[in-house]
Amino acid sequence: MPYDEALARFEPVLGLETHVELGTASKMFCGCKTTFGAPPNTQVCPTCLAFPGALPVANAAAIESTIRIGLALNCSIAEWCRMARKNYFYPDMPKNYQISQYDEPLCFDGYLDVEIDGRTVRVEIERVHLEEDTGKSTHVGGATGRIQGADYSIVDYNRAGIPLVEIVTKPIEGTDRLAPEVAKAYATELREIMRSLGVSDVRMEEGSMRCDVNVSLMPRGSSEWGTRTETKNVNSLRSVERAVHSEIERQAAILADGGRIVQETRHFHEDTGQTTPGRSKEEAQDYRYFPEPDLVPIAPDPAWVATLKEALPELPSVKRRRLQAEWRLSDLDMQAMYNAEAIDLVEATIAAGAPAADARKWWMGELARRANETGSALADLPITPEQIARVTELVASGALNDKLAREVLEGVLAGEGSPDEVVETRGLKIVNDEGELSAIVDEVIAGNADAAEKVRSGKIAAAGALVGGVMKASRGKADAARARALILEKLGVSE
Ligand SMILES: [Zn+2]
Repeated sequence: MPYDEALARFEPVLGLETHVELGTASKMFCGCKTTFGAPPNTQVCPTCLAFPGALPVANAAAIESTIRIGLALNCSIAEWCRMARKNYFYPDMPKNYQISQYDEPLCFDGYLDVEIDGRTVRVEIERVHLEEDTGKSTHVGGATGRIQGADYSIVDYNRAGIPLVEIVTKPIEGTDRLAPEVAKAYATELREIMRSLGVSDVRMEEGSMRCDVNVSLMPRGSSEWGTRTETKNVNSLRSVERAVHSEIERQAAILADGGRIVQETRHFHEDTGQTTPGRSKEEAQDYRYFPEPDLVPIAPDPAWVATLKEALPELPSVKRRRLQAEWRLSDLDMQAMYNAEAIDLVEATIAAGAPAADARKWWMGELARRANETGSALADLPITPEQIARVTELVASGALNDKLAREVLEGVLAGEGSPDEVVETRGLKIVNDEGELSAIVDEVIAGNADAAEKVRSGKIAAAGALVGGVMKASRGKADAARARALILEKLGVSE
């Protein structure tokens, strides 16, 4: 059913469960390393492989990070809570249970405000809890990479036991047709917060942040929630938005036909933008949760929690408001920078000495274009804020003009070294020598007699062609304004 029609008949209710892998040096319950991309099964030990008799010990840094996340999300912090065993079989989970939290989460009852089109939407947070990640199965031989149709499966336990924080929202009502955007804005802001806290690299494409998106529909005028589906492990912000959109359309079509929604997990497909059914959804009681007997309870000292709260960094939304005022930007310009993920880069470039307007111009102009072309994030371009600052300095000193500066950036991006090295090896210094410029101007005037004559007779507009000739002859290295002044002087006219 088309989106507009679906929204005319039904009201969406959202819920988001986000898993964030913490960037701790070691795993949640053992000392194994957590480096991403290490050869399979090289970061494992008897504890995370669940050998008989191996006992877990909780990672204090992970608990601290979880509390900081909870505080940043305005949560209350439990003074006493326990880990719980969640019992189920999964081939990439050696213990056949996951150590998680159940009815005693470490953090609870918070909120996160997100802004959509100048409107603030408060997303209530039900809980932030700590658990361990599973290993990773790879299904080999099938067309889709899923277990169906595969010849065999292999499993890598490097990820098994990496600390994982799960952030669960309360049901989000009243977002109406903005539901997909709210879901995306929430995930975006959550990622920003994780970054500012430095608790995770939150790389969605590497799976260190992944969202489960719950959607249900209720008929307009009703206040009774419908049956929800849970689209699992959506791994990009854009996909979060698309998954909500397509689930609303799919569910509306079924309900309008008098059908019923099956409570199940679903998979989102990047290529089609659609979801397909996964497994029917278990209820909490199916997992036979019970308090984890191998671990002592977690009882964070309130004084310590207060210290952590005191030491929280400036949160992204607060920082954005401050920078917007400092940089004197419109809401629209600031939003564009936020969407381009340019704010931190611009800030760092200014900190390295660049004027604010220049820093913004390069990141949002030339570099955004480059990032767009290569499909990479701005932050992943092989150029640093310090290098951009150096280029703006060279422009300000008159050593480069904008055109040459772009060439310098091109050289830096191509791996030719620092801006100064690129200037040197590509010979990009502006023609500052008056004699040299004068000689070029003479040459261009001599070679363009018609244009020169027009200028002499008062058609100053014709000087443009001569300036163009000077720029060409100097391979872009002349100062256009000075070249123009010199041309007019030599032809005996004034503006
Ligand atoms: Zn281990």
